[in-house]
Amino acid sequence: MSDTPVRGAPFRVALTFDAEHPDRPWCPPGNAERILDDLRSRGVRATFFVQGRWAQAQPATAKRIADDGHLVGHHSHYHTRMPLLSDDGIASDIRDAQEAIIAATGVDPHPWFRCPFGAGHDDPRVLKALRTQGYRDVNWHVELDDWEPWRTGAAIADDAVEGARTQGDGTVVLLHTWPGGTGDALGPLVDRLAEMGATFVTVDALAELP
Ligand SMILES: [Zn+2]
Repeated sequence: MSDTPVRGAPFRVALTFDAEHPDRPWCPPGNAERILDDLRSRGVRATFFVQGRWAQAQPATAKRIADDGHLVGHHSHYHTRMPLLSDDGIASDIRDAQEAIIAATGVDPHPWFRCPFGAGHDDPRVLKALRTQGYRDVNWHVELDDWEPWRTGAAIADDAVEGARTQGDGTVVLLHTWPGGTGDALGPLVDRLAEMGATFVTVDALAELP
């Protein structure tokens, strides 16, 4: 952890998106594509943790994530809290999603995995099941409650900038592809972090991950 980034010092920020079925009824259509457009126009690569069932439902968007050069990770199949599943349940959820992600994106998500809701990231049984199938869990430093309907783009961008400033080099930021607030926030938050000297990396570029 470091203090306020100094211009010239490394200040790497990994924007990570959970690409999944919306948790809420108000998700604006085309939000994921809008996010991909904003990343593309700014030349920013990010990491997308893709839910298997979502990839089956939205194969074109899932494929675009890979085609645009983003890093593809695994975000389970059913988006269940992994600790609630049996050992067999965890194993088959991982396998089903892996198959669906590869079918949709053409990319093998190994070894990057993110537990739905972060549940299981500190559970030895879940982590062992992940390891057995060649995965490691990637948690985050900065979360923005971007799934809450009342969170505006301005508030999400402000908190992302402040969170990355506080965490410093190597910050991993949790975002989601479906909230409208995230779609509104993304362009400004990328521009403001870039102005502060941030470089945007994918999680495979960071030696230390949360
Ligand atoms: Zn999720």
